[in-house]
Amino acid sequence: MYAERVLSGMRPTGSLHLGHYHGVLKNWVALQHQHPCLFFVADWHALTTQYDDPQGIVAASWDMVIDWLAAGVDPHRATLFIQSQVPEHAELHLLLSMMTPLGWLERVPTYKDQQEKLESKDLSTYGFLGYPLLQSADILIYRADKVPVGEDQVPHIEFSRELARRFNHLYGREAGFEDKAREAVKKLGSKRARSYTQLRTYFQQNGDKTAIERAHALLDEVPGLEHADRERLCGYLEGTGKMILVEPGALLTAASRMPGLDGQKMSKSYGNTITLREDAASVTHKVRRMPTDPARVRRDDPGDPDKCPVWQLHQVYSDEACQAWVQQGCRSAGIGCLDCKQPVIDGILAEQAPMRERAQPYLDDPRLVQEIIAEGNHKARQLARETMRDVRDAMGLNYS
Ligand code: SF4
Repeated sequence: MYAERVLSGMRPTGSLHLGHYHGVLKNWVALQHQHPCLFFVADWHALTTQYDDPQGIVAASWDMVIDWLAAGVDPHRATLFIQSQVPEHAELHLLLSMMTPLGWLERVPTYKDQQEKLESKDLSTYGFLGYPLLQSADILIYRADKVPVGEDQVPHIEFSRELARRFNHLYGREAGFEDKAREAVKKLGSKRARSYTQLRTYFQQNGDKTAIERAHALLDEVPGLEHADRERLCGYLEGTGKMILVEPGALLTAASRMPGLDGQKMSKSYGNTITLREDAASVTHKVRRMPTDPARVRRDDPGDPDKCPVWQLHQVYSDEACQAWVQQGCRSAGIGCLDCKQPVIDGILAEQAPMRERAQPYLDDPRLVQEIIAEGNHKARQLARETMRDVRDAMGLNYS
């Protein structure tokens, strides 16, 4: 019914590191070639845990966008914008909050987890409890049908789906809906009307979701179908009301466990990161200081790569021949640890070289980044306004 659309956001938490690149940005770069994509800076989300220290958020946001561009996100392909510059997110969040049962929010698995992890902060706030709702508003306002997430985020998507269903159930009802829907079916023309009815019956009897997808595709092909009729026909497939908000789908992304300098997952909180645009001297210094297999005290002590964090980085950056050289050389003490680290240093620097190159024009002239974001904010806002118009109409809040 609505255009296919990928939506993904990131909190501005400071310079991005290679863990972000391998875990998220590489995927964004691939997705922008496959679907229309919207990528946003989730600056309001940063406030849910950083409400007492908002000063660095704007600078971190600009810096993060430069990191995205450096990684290869292309503003000609994807729309890049800042959440707080599209205030409709806040309006939808507020309206959804009126109909969201408190228990749904308390049940979100990450709520208690995060509260325990960040116990040094007072997170017993309304904003923190409501952050999954803001996240849902971010998704639903763009009627995004594809949201790239890891396995652990799937409950958040399910939460957004439940909210969309509840919203459509509460506000998609209209007097004489069934009659209006049947009238709308007639407007499809006899052949399409027959196919639509068959698919609807098939879904209602068998619960087969592909029938729904085929029916949506059929509706997409109908020229000149009025917006209200389209909403009715989509809603009529599954229930008895209009479909105003679209249930999003999770686009499952493979978990990436980019190792940090100490062998744990790369994370700012572990202090084991290499940033995307870190200078060559610093990268070299950090890798050369990495711990190795403790058994290799002297140069002629054999080691075991499986006990060494450097080996984990070889698995990311080295080809098979180099990996075989490490395995053989480490176990036989044929190579020293500094020799072994050099291909990793070379691999990281080679990965970073095009990123530094892409970032440079934006560092030289920050207005270029501001223009990209201004354009993205404008595009995103147009889409958000369309949804809010329908939401206000459905809730009877249209004063014009
Ligand atoms: S040779 Fe390489 S894999 Fe073996 S302990 Fe040294 S750094 Fe680690």
